[in-house]
Amino acid sequence: MGSSQDAPRAVVPEHLLKGQKALVTGANSGIGKATAIALGKAGADVVVNYVTGREDAEAVVEEITSHGVRALAHEADVSDEGQVAAMMEHTVQEFGTLDILVANAGLQRDAPFTEMTLAQWQKVLDVNLTGQFLCAREAAKVFLRRGVVPEVSRAAGKIICMSSVHQIIPWSGHVNYAASKGGVQMMMETLAQELAPKKIRVNAIAPGAIKTPINRDAWQTPEAEKDLLRLIPYDRVGDPDDIAHAAVALASDLMDYVVGATLYVDGGMTLFPGFATGG
Ligand code: NAD
Repeated sequence: MGSSQDAPRAVVPEHLLKGQKALVTGANSGIGKATAIALGKAGADVVVNYVTGREDAEAVVEEITSHGVRALAHEADVSDEGQVAAMMEHTVQEFGTLDILVANAGLQRDAPFTEMTLAQWQKVLDVNLTGQFLCAREAAKVFLRRGVVPEVSRAAGKIICMSSVHQIIPWSGHVNYAASKGGVQMMMETLAQELAPKKIRVNAIAPGAIKTPINRDAWQTPEAEKDLLRLIPYDRVGDPDDIAHAAVALASDLMDYVVGATLYVDGGMTLFPGFATGG
């Protein structure tokens, strides 16, 4: 099972995002880390946002700069309006502008519904939904101020919201998380509609099961992984590069006509695999 896990990796085209400036939130771990590195490999300068774990963020910066582009780490809680504004100011100060935002930071605080505290509900909504709202708003201001620079990109800016298959798949015991991602979907589509005339492309990626610290319990043991694979027609658990490569493509002009879309990167998890043998 999952033998394609060891297959050769795709190579990120080195010049696809040459000269572009990117900001990735929650970029010192998992999907955000892989995305920040892949954007750097594709030629973008990258701001590596983190909220805790400065050393991990610095290691990501080091790896990105080894590809000949610029990178810097910036500590900010994406759910804090003032900290997000300061992060954007720092980005523009250092890089001159911003072309790509990957609003990736997210967390889980799981509990059965009747045991879920208001604090657990609120924390997940604050980070996963309000955090994306705040970062997207500050990025859009920069994009609108600058407009299109044709030598850099056909778009005035690109926003990629990291959603989840749980924007459409209900998830018992995770009502806060599923509600936050459902919110991300409608926020993304509304922003896409509002900002498209200004040549800003807003889209989302909805990962399926990706091996990161957020869901370690779901894949760490062979039994858990076997259980998980029952939900994945493509028969392998995803890894962070699967999402990072989708983000690079979506941010590039190769996808310039993709506006308001959710790209499901999930090995077929949203294809109702339970119906594969009948139903
Ligand atoms: P992860 O735990 O490895 O990374 C999450 C990152 O977000 C960390 O760097 C964390 O420090 C950061 N973060 C948390 N709160 C923050 C805050 N207030 N401000 C700034 N940063 C903050 O998990 P991951 O799997 O890489 O998750 C990344 C995104 O992908 C999340 O939005 C998650 O919901 C989404 N996602 C993950 C999976 C999966 O299977 N791993 C599936 C679907 C969606």
